[in-house]
Amino acid sequence: MTHSVPDVLESLLGPGRVIADPAVLEARRHDYWMVSHVRDLAGTPAPRPAAVVRPTSVAEVQKIVRWAGEAGVALLPFGLGSGVVGGTIASADAVVLDMGAMGAVRSIDPENLLASFDAGMNGQAAEDAVAARGLTIGHWPQSVAISTVGGWIATRASGQFSTAYGNIEDIVHSIEAVLPNGDLVVLGKGPRASAGPDLRHLMLGSEGTMGVITGGTFSLRRAAEARALTCFEAADMRAGFALQREIVQRGWRPPVMRQYDERESRRMDARLTKCAILMVHEGPAALVAAETAAVAALAAEMGVAAAPADVVEHWLGHRNNVPGWDAILSRNIVADTVEVSADWTRIAAVYDAAVASLKEVEGCMAASAHSSHVYRSGLNLYFTFAVQTAGPAVMEATYMECWRRIMQATADNGGSLSHHHGIGRVRRGWLETELGPEATALLRRVKAAVDPAGIMNPGALIPDA
Ligand SMILES: Cc1cc2nc3c(=O)[nH]c(=O)nc-3n(C[C@H](O)[C@H](O)[C@H](O)COP(=O)(O)OP(=O)(O)OC[C@H]3O[C@@H](n4cnc5c(N)ncnc54)[C@H](O)[C@@H]3O)c2cc1C
Repeated sequence: MTHSVPDVLESLLGPGRVIADPAVLEARRHDYWMVSHVRDLAGTPAPRPAAVVRPTSVAEVQKIVRWAGEAGVALLPFGLGSGVVGGTIASADAVVLDMGAMGAVRSIDPENLLASFDAGMNGQAAEDAVAARGLTIGHWPQSVAISTVGGWIATRASGQFSTAYGNIEDIVHSIEAVLPNGDLVVLGKGPRASAGPDLRHLMLGSEGTMGVITGGTFSLRRAAEARALTCFEAADMRAGFALQREIVQRGWRPPVMRQYDERESRRMDARLTKCAILMVHEGPAALVAAETAAVAALAAEMGVAAAPADVVEHWLGHRNNVPGWDAILSRNIVADTVEVSADWTRIAAVYDAAVASLKEVEGCMAASAHSSHVYRSGLNLYFTFAVQTAGPAVMEATYMECWRRIMQATADNGGSLSHHHGIGRVRRGWLETELGPEATALLRRVKAAVDPAGIMNPGALIPDA
């Protein structure tokens, strides 16, 4: 007699771990990727998974992974489903591993500035727990309240304060994970090590394909002593990029540096008519005073005008408002944000080419960009597009055409095709363009060695050979 997947899992784990509630199965079919929502609307929805299982311990994760390996059942790790690139799309025979019941603070160590969390811990709750001790993780994705610590690691996420505090790979101290064979590993130890390749990077950006992240330890910061806000307006994107480059290359590090093109500047505040540059300065009071004075002097020297700082205050207060897709999709509009990066010498060409190409799409209502993560050697761009379509039948094709144009424009101008949302399914066909054929083949060999049965999140990240 054959048993159903939920029955087998229930006998493995005991009662209460396997969720049969149809509403939960329905909600765990996919992440926040617009295309999955379009398919729901177009009558071609992703199926419900065979089961949703919510482990409560590392030992339970190991049991589930070992069983899935033997049974050849696909496992889809699920944080809070805020992923925007199609990292999670269920199939009818897959099991969704919902990490929501593993959401505890394991330890906070103020002396060494370290905090450990279960992977399913809500990001805002993790930040609140350390903030209560006068500390911060310093990782502020817009989705902080709707994403998990494990999801941050699995997607190589970036926060709004990354220019000084780093992206998630700079903040992660160590990662605990269950490999596809059920082995438990802890990757990372001490403030730094020279002990062969840094295996934390096997999990950073793995998007559920290399194992299940069960815990993460982050290197914290003390809460900043002082904060100041400054705002400027550059005549155009090139002038703004030049100012930002000069600031970071001279050694200043405002944690937040954002530059908006004219369209987005106007949308943010009607008083802004050119390219707004928003900065948040944080740190010891003397450093903040020195940085704000130096940045103001540099802006004046480079002909970039000061703008009202209350623009930055407004941004800070509203920065995590999360838009829903329903209002847009119900009007037959497709829209998305797409992040890429490039060196200083290439970024303006990437901006020009992608915006110009998006504007050629029939029905284009908006094609704009801002930058939000700055490095000594370049920065990211975050494109926004919105296109009016004729209806659900053509929405996915129109959406994918906009993505194709941004990817092509970025590749043609020497940029990098993903800054922080990951690959998922939307960029899977572009991964070889990004990595090159040899490195893509290497990634496939690594995946085959780590997960020979191919049970971990099949269909995401790694392109078919
Ligand atoms: C409104 C909005 C704003 C956003 N802003 C930002 C931003 O500022 N910066 C940014 O970087 N991203 C942003 N994102 C994208 C998203 O929030 C991040 O990718 C986030 O890290 C995903 O976390 P999650 O827990 O929701 O993961 P999920 O969406 O559940 O999963 C994402 C991927 O990670 C895998 N995964 C999740 N948990 C685990 C685990 N424990 N072990 C192994 N694999 C796992 C999944 O299989 C999937 O492939 C935003 C998304 C939205 C909707």
